[in-house]
Amino acid sequence: MTRTVYLNGDYLPETEAKISIFDRAFLMGDGVYEVTSVLGGKLIDFDGHATRLQRSLNELDMPAPCDMDELLAIHRKLVEINGIEEGMVYLQVTRGAPDDRDFVFPDPETTKPTLVLFTQNKPGLAETVKPLKIISIDDVRWGRRDIKTVQLLYPSMGKMMAKKAGADDAWMVQDGFVTEGTSNNAYFIKGNKIVTRALSNDILHGITRAAVLRFAQEAQMDVEERNFTIEEAQGADEAFITSASTFVMPVVEIDGVTLGDGQAGPRALRLREIYLDESRKAAI
Ligand code: PMP
Repeated sequence: MTRTVYLNGDYLPETEAKISIFDRAFLMGDGVYEVTSVLGGKLIDFDGHATRLQRSLNELDMPAPCDMDELLAIHRKLVEINGIEEGMVYLQVTRGAPDDRDFVFPDPETTKPTLVLFTQNKPGLAETVKPLKIISIDDVRWGRRDIKTVQLLYPSMGKMMAKKAGADDAWMVQDGFVTEGTSNNAYFIKGNKIVTRALSNDILHGITRAAVLRFAQEAQMDVEERNFTIEEAQGADEAFITSASTFVMPVVEIDGVTLGDGQAGPRALRLREIYLDESRKAAI
């Protein structure tokens, strides 16, 4: 079945959705995005994603393509048209396509933002637990990782480095400390304590991170937001990642060192269960 996508006000077959070669996202990576998961045909934490989108737009002085109620309606319609029970909705906003290539931002009065949404169907998304092997790589990204831009070349390279090394993903390290995964936030568990890097411009403020840390505290686990090294994580009882598309996913190996008995950790699996239960209840 051909997927229906959304482009600047129209719902179109994916083969008919076309964007200008002058679009700023194509020429300069001048765009932001969000990924919202769908469970049971409903959106998980839409408000969190919409709020972060608005923040990304503000930080880049980029006009919003529409208000957030309209955005919700578009998400819902795409989920319905494409019959998505489990999967994701991807959204991209770019600074639009001016008449010519220029580093200077175009006038927002004459150059309107480009808004694109598309779905990805992932039946079994919530049931699939694949414990991850992680390698560490240098974090050479730019200094505003709190803005969710479409500049995903280094994260993409990181995934390829992991694949080449026979692993599943990479955690990035800056000045000796783990920042985050290529497309997820990074954590370890020692005893009753969950440790993850504190929020700053160095990492994306994960929507899943916020929810999981809230639920962890409710489940009487301690949360410590601080810098940590790869060596400390290697010595932990468990480790895991979070993102909208993986929820909570256990990590069982870091740079060749096996954590615990090499099986998905019970506390990470419990956090995943709580996150999925609570998210399904609040889905819209
Ligand atoms: N960090 C990075 C670099 C990411 O790309 C992502 C996912 N887009 C995350 C963290 C997790 O964020 P979220 O939980 O909002 O998906």
